[in-house]
Amino acid sequence: MMEWSLEELYANFDSPEYQQDLQALEEKIHAFRVWAEEALKGYERVRETMEEGIRRTIEITELHEKLGAFAYLTMNVEADNEQAPKFADRIRNIVASLSAPETRFKKWLAGVPNLEQVIEGSELLKEHEYVIKDAVRYAKRLLSEAEEDLISRLQTTGGYAWSRLHGNLTARLLVDITVDGEQKRLPLTVVRNMAFHEDARVRRTGYEAELKAYEKVDEAVASSLNSIKGEYLTICRKRGYSDPLEATLELMKLDKDVFDTLLEVMQESLPVFRRYLRAKARMLGHSNGLPWYDLFAPVGRSRRQFDLANARDYIVQNFAKFYPELANLAARAFDEKWIDATPREGKRGGAFCYGLHTIKQSRIMSNFDGSFNGVSTLAHELGHAFHNYCQRNESILNADSPMPLAETASTFNETLITEIALSEADRDEQLFILEKSLQGDTQVVVDIYSRFLFESEVFKRRKDGPLSVAELKEIMTEAQQQAYGEGLDPQFLHPYMWICKPHYYSPGLHFYNFPYAFGQLFSKALYAMYKEEGEKFIPKYTNLLASTGKHDIRELGSLVGIDLADKGFWRMSIAFVEEQVRQFESLAE
Ligand SMILES: [Zn+2]
Repeated sequence: MMEWSLEELYANFDSPEYQQDLQALEEKIHAFRVWAEEALKGYERVRETMEEGIRRTIEITELHEKLGAFAYLTMNVEADNEQAPKFADRIRNIVASLSAPETRFKKWLAGVPNLEQVIEGSELLKEHEYVIKDAVRYAKRLLSEAEEDLISRLQTTGGYAWSRLHGNLTARLLVDITVDGEQKRLPLTVVRNMAFHEDARVRRTGYEAELKAYEKVDEAVASSLNSIKGEYLTICRKRGYSDPLEATLELMKLDKDVFDTLLEVMQESLPVFRRYLRAKARMLGHSNGLPWYDLFAPVGRSRRQFDLANARDYIVQNFAKFYPELANLAARAFDEKWIDATPREGKRGGAFCYGLHTIKQSRIMSNFDGSFNGVSTLAHELGHAFHNYCQRNESILNADSPMPLAETASTFNETLITEIALSEADRDEQLFILEKSLQGDTQVVVDIYSRFLFESEVFKRRKDGPLSVAELKEIMTEAQQQAYGEGLDPQFLHPYMWICKPHYYSPGLHFYNFPYAFGQLFSKALYAMYKEEGEKFIPKYTNLLASTGKHDIRELGSLVGIDLADKGFWRMSIAFVEEQVRQFESLAE
């Protein structure tokens, strides 16, 4: 059994420590509100006021993290714990009253005269310069208090209601399907999982039944999509953005030049991925590219089995080849009960890593099944833990990361472990590992590119009015053809991908696609850099990870000597993928 320990946070919900901290959180937020109403009326004693605001924010954030983590982590492994969801809910309610004083503070910051000079005069403010300037940038987009209030109230019956409708319709959708000659109605997730089945007939039946099932909900889901995108267009216009992409790039802390470079490199890389898709198609007996239903078909075989002790040693030994400090951190995570890896009743599925900045640790949840994939998942999550570790001496307000960089260290670790496993594997296992890696990359680059094209076109046409189901299907298949090209059989595309991907339905987060591609290609390019530079690369890497909460993305790049608007950097990543495609092709013959 490998279960984590949460004692480092609290003994339990009834402990005096938990109760005291909960009360302290409530009091500190209340005091912050009272303070904000009084102290932020004008601009006397600016430096002291600013410091006071930062100090209060730090205290509240730390308490919130600790209390919230204990409830969240408990909930994930103890489904029958009745206290955890109650306390999680209570914390959410307490923290909800933080948004008013926070917004007031940000607006006040935006009005500070001679901001640079004020920051220069204080160590605390210099340390938090990025956070302050980011708050100012955010505040400049805010409308009047009355308008902001109206928007957020209307969104609960607008965008967020449409989003819930989409969630409910797809979660409840039953698919009519014939399995082993028997007529059945199965949940959508079960049918979509048939894409990974060994048997080609099952994969195809699942795909056909899935597409048919969407006809039951497509009109309602199209209304949901039209409303969410329409609402966002209105909000963007009010906030002074030229289009939703500009707003998203600002939120992601991503420079337009860097974004354009990324997009160009993604386009350049498409032929490489198509070679992989065609090679996989030939292996599976298709002459005209891969049909959609075989995108996830298993190829090769992995026989390796691990128990948790082996997995620990395998990870620690191989991390040590890269950087001893990464290996030490992984060993600590295993030995000091940071990891909950044993699947059991009442524990949720999936895997994640949770940073506990206040105690300079992390917690990792996974459902380890003894396969190489299970080892690779642990390596991935340990990458997040390493990222947190690199930020351990930063202020909690600086221990953050823009979304496109959040998967840097995790993808890096996965690449590292995959490379090593490949070098030790026989042919069948090599095929299996390469296929898993390329399948993932294809999703993150090629499919993501199609999603980006789709969303761009939807926003463009939505300006003139709602789009019909037929239009949405046509835009989707066109985007898929542009992205996958001859890699896919044009007879078997997926015109309803906009229904099954929840990313299009988040009212507050749009173009929730390219950050994935950015992260993947960025991390692989870093890995290629490491292979070129060896040890010299490591201090740059750890410095980069330590600083992700203190700079915009382009600045972070230059901090470690990378110009992210230069295609040369990104091409290293594509070259890396191309080498794997070459290996895959020769194994597939
Ligand atoms: Zn991750």
